[in-house]
Amino acid sequence: MGGSRSMIFADCSSSTTARLVPFGRSRLLCGGGALCARRRLHVGVGPSLPASLRTTLTVHSSPSPSLPVMNVSCSATMASEASAKVIDGKAVAKQIRDEITGEVSRMKDAIGVVPGLAVILVGDRKDSATYVRNKKKACQSVGINSFEVHLPEDTSEQEVLKHISVFNDDPSVHGILVQLPLPCHIDEQSILNAVSMEKDVDGFHPLNIGRLAMRGREPLFIPCTPKGCIELLHRYGFDIKGKRAVVIGRSNIVGMPAALLLQREDATVSIVHSRTKNPEEITRQADIIISAVGQPNMVRGSWIKPGAVIIDVGINPVEDAKSPRGYRLVGDVCYEEACEVASAITPVPGGVGPMTIAMLLSNTLTSAKRVHNFQ
Ligand code: NAP
Repeated sequence: MGGSRSMIFADCSSSTTARLVPFGRSRLLCGGGALCARRRLHVGVGPSLPASLRTTLTVHSSPSPSLPVMNVSCSATMASEASAKVIDGKAVAKQIRDEITGEVSRMKDAIGVVPGLAVILVGDRKDSATYVRNKKKACQSVGINSFEVHLPEDTSEQEVLKHISVFNDDPSVHGILVQLPLPCHIDEQSILNAVSMEKDVDGFHPLNIGRLAMRGREPLFIPCTPKGCIELLHRYGFDIKGKRAVVIGRSNIVGMPAALLLQREDATVSIVHSRTKNPEEITRQADIIISAVGQPNMVRGSWIKPGAVIIDVGINPVEDAKSPRGYRLVGDVCYEEACEVASAITPVPGGVGPMTIAMLLSNTLTSAKRVHNFQ
């Protein structure tokens, strides 16, 4: 994750000017970011919208009985009246974790192998320590073994490489994750390159990304957050093939692989980034929007085509005096406005976040199955 994080006043139902409040890491506020005008002002529905933009998304019933059956075929008029369905990432992630628990136990019973995930944490960042703790807990909850190495901030690159090498050679470890960001004196590229491609459960190894980008090649692992976004679309039965998709953000860990994945699923994909001219116009053409920017409430109702499906990856802390912590988390998409235009949307929190960890567990299980040729 490049850049840094800020806490921002960014209520999209008010016209308050954004103010940045330090929150661990600082992130620049660009574009329309947090300068949100009053709610209905920009909602892109109604007679002024060209008919060509009023398409309907095909939605099948959910393949899973425990997930809500969606009925989101809607016209612009319906969308303006109805509220978007909530894509419940927490529920889907729980279902996936339950499936993984079953598979881990089946594998253990059949061949006596338990999948193992090793995590390397360098430094004392509180957010990184929390992520690592959550990953460890998630492993325990599904029966995956977890191994952790916590190194001090001033650890040399050589030392980190040595630990990676040990895990690369350890047959009880099926996945290796180096928690990012690393301290500045360590070259992230050389660390990620050192993780064995067969254990690269984060999917960040250049060979895995390269295969993801090439037709006819299969990556061994797909990066967890984008994989979680596509899994949500699949599990809710949204058609991707032939749809117009816009990914906002082009980072190596989310935006870029998300765009590659959508393309593999036969969507027609555009990528919007910080230098894109008319991002609103491009985004408004999308049947599917995946936003991974890190700007609270940047995507307003007027950016959204009626009936679009929105996957909001952004996790942005904004100041909230009413919250005991003094802040709350919001996505990149102005949720209240989007609900009036979109047919379905992931909430923040409770959308993509829980899916990321579920996909990490899934990649670790896949890795162990592959090594032991267990079907
Ligand atoms: P990142 O590395 O900072 O990348 C942000 C991307 O957004 C960049 O490609 C940047 O464009 C683009 N961007 C920035 N400002 C923009 C603007 N005003 N208009 C259009 N594009 C803009 O961030 P990241 O690591 O991908 O993370 C993005 C967000 O997702 C963050 O909020 C992060 O916390 C969240 N996240 C969530 C999960 C999860 O599990 N839910 C996982 C990872 C990340 P340029 O390339 O031109 O600079």
